[in-house]
Amino acid sequence: MIGAVLCSRTGLPGGRRGPVDARGRRKLLDWTFWAAFAIGVFPDLASLGIYFAYDWITGSGGGWRGIPEGIFTLYRMTHSLLGMGIGVAALWWWKPRLLLPLMAWPVHILCDVPTHGAGRFVTPLFWPVTLKGFHGWNWWEVPGLFAAIWISIGLLWLTVLGMRLSWRGPKAKAAE
Ligand SMILES: [Zn+2]
Repeated sequence: MIGAVLCSRTGLPGGRRGPVDARGRRKLLDWTFWAAFAIGVFPDLASLGIYFAYDWITGSGGGWRGIPEGIFTLYRMTHSLLGMGIGVAALWWWKPRLLLPLMAWPVHILCDVPTHGAGRFVTPLFWPVTLKGFHGWNWWEVPGLFAAIWISIGLLWLTVLGMRLSWRGPKAKAAE
């Protein structure tokens, strides 16, 4: 269960960082934030999320060892350049305004590549051609890395927040 929580966190960096690019507006939060958040967690939700939700509801207790091959296929689809390309292109075509929040998807994969080492969860960038990928460092095995990622996301977030608030200043003054 801890694993499931931690794993959804790997998804979060994508969701949190995405909106940073997506922000061109003065509102603190806009719809692109939530869209980017949803898209940022999608690659993990649409694969591992389905399995763990099922696991939890049925109480089968399969855990990390019981992940079926089909779930790995979904994981590869959402974590490969091919799957991402098709997904992003389709959504972009469906709604062009989604382009900015859609960038949360590549950001998610970029975050996953160095934080997943050799093994079943290595980011399968070139699937279905090969399952080989860059052997990074498993974030759940290197606590420092995990902390560093979250601290940098926090700092990035504060920077954005600071920029937005200071940006508002002159406008508010002008309105007085
Ligand atoms: Zn992922």
